Amino acid sequence: MADINGFLKIKRKEAGNRPLNERIFDHSEVEQVLNSEDRMLQASRCMDCGIPFCHWSCPVDNLIPEWNDLLYKGDWKAAYIRLAATNNFPEFTGRICPASCEHACVLNINMEPVTIRENEVAIVEKAFSEGYIKPEPPKIRTGKKVAVIGSGPAGMAAADLLNKTGHLVTLFEKNEKAGGLLRYGIPDFKLSKAIIDRRLDLMIKEGVIIRTGINIGKDITGKELIEQFDAICIAVGSTHPRDLVIEGRELNGIHYAMDFLSLQNRVNSGQITGNDNPITSAGKKVLVIGGGDTGSDCVGTAIRQKAVNVTQIEIMPKPPLTRTDDNPWPYYGKILKTSTSHEEGCERFWNLSTVKFIGTANNVSGVEVEEVEWHKKEGRYSMDIVPGTRRKIDADLVLLAMGFVHPVLDGLLSELDLELDHHRNIKVDQNQLTSRNKVFAAGDSVSGATLVVNAIASGRKVANQIDKFLKKS
Ligand SMILES: Cc1cc2nc3c(=O)[nH]c(=O)nc-3n(C[C@H](O)[C@H](O)[C@H](O)COP(=O)(O)OP(=O)(O)OC[C@H]3O[C@@H](n4cnc5c(N)ncnc54)[C@H](O)[C@@H]3O)c2cc1C
Ligand code: SF4
Repeated sequence: MADINGFLKIKRKEAGNRPLNERIFDHSEVEQVLNSEDRMLQASRCMDCGIPFCHWSCPVDNLIPEWNDLLYKGDWKAAYIRLAATNNFPEFTGRICPASCEHACVLNINMEPVTIRENEVAIVEKAFSEGYIKPEPPKIRTGKKVAVIGSGPAGMAAADLLNKTGHLVTLFEKNEKAGGLLRYGIPDFKLSKAIIDRRLDLMIKEGVIIRTGINIGKDITGKELIEQFDAICIAVGSTHPRDLVIEGRELNGIHYAMDFLSLQNRVNSGQITGNDNPITSAGKKVLVIGGGDTGSDCVGTAIRQKAVNVTQIEIMPKPPLTRTDDNPWPYYGKILKTSTSHEEGCERFWNLSTVKFIGTANNVSGVEVEEVEWHKKEGRYSMDIVPGTRRKIDADLVLLAMGFVHPVLDGLLSELDLELDHHRNIKVDQNQLTSRNKVFAAGDSVSGATLVVNAIASGRKVANQIDKFLKKS
């Protein structure tokens, strides 16, 4: 156990964020880094609970009390080894995970939780800087070949583990660079793309073959891959966006959030210039429809592009400031989240339904909205319009951030005629096997859009199943 009285003596201390009036002028990471001494003190707050609810709530089963104890004692290397035992990419989750572990931390019942996420990223960054992390190619190759399609966190985790087991892995990606939504979705101010490159470089040195710019199902058929490889892992994500099909949808200036965000990622990496960016908020009034994390990422990006103003609207009610009786500890707290992007200057409204887009000369100039009221009847929510509440919100750029409905079905999934579940995600059995022999699937393409940590967990699970399958074949 860390310090037996640590949580009584030491208060939670976060690294904090770069000053607002500095960070909105660039796309670099917002979160700062705490010095090692303070970080070890933060680890001392962990009580090494008999039943560690942090561990219970972590999708990759991180051994949180164990590495907190090692971190407190200053044994950073041993802490890293325990961390890497369950998580291939703590440098991603340590930066952008919503940290359900902290919501479930026992201290969170009546005090502030342990800084688990920040401790995680501190351990892995120290491991990189001290050289504890080195390429470790497998000593023996099995002679089996695996194709992983899709290089997001699920595909990367599956490729990493399968390669470490000795199988020869080729990771295929349709985009110019690997990383999935980590690279073309999540803004650089949350996750620097150098962090992805560092990990991919390591994987390449360990023997993973990465082939980008290849759309499987188009440039190479899925059936060809099935002939050429001993097993296939599909990890193509869930990126078919939810649309808002109302009057005026055809007007110019209405875009999916992902188109907007990925273009800025490409500008940041020098793949295109700012002048060539066809969707920019510079000098515009921006309206983001959708109150979730993707919407929040649009807010921060629009502010950095120098929007005149940014408004974010959500049809659901404003979440409470504290947990409600039907959302107790240790479950994830469904409470109001104010992201760093919101702090940077955005007006937020809830209970607003979008009625129609308004435009002049084919360009959007605003949306008509009206207020709604939510009622809970027999455990189900229903919505009523509040009469007389119609109003206009001015906007000359509208970003649709209402989530994703299922994987892109055209191309690979149709070609292989894979069975889908009732949400139109890829259907798999308990071994992550699809309806086709030797074709497995993982990540958002199976679960629907979720989180990086869940995608990593799914990638780890599918790698184990593929390994078992290859050992039998
Ligand atoms: C804007 C945004 C912000 C987010 N922020 C967070 C966050 O802060 N924290 C968090 O935990 N989660 C966040 N998420 C969710 C998280 O990014 C996803 O849950 C996660 O990336 C899913 O991983 P995946 O590997 O299943 O799929 P993806 O990351 O979607 O990767 C799938 C990859 O497959 C490739 N592909 C698809 N079809 C083919 C094909 N036919 N051939 C070759 N390649 C193909 C795609 O190009 C893509 O690179 C965010 C998502 C978005 C959109
Ligand atoms: S629940 Fe919190 S205090 Fe308990 S072991 Fe986990 S991190 Fe430590």
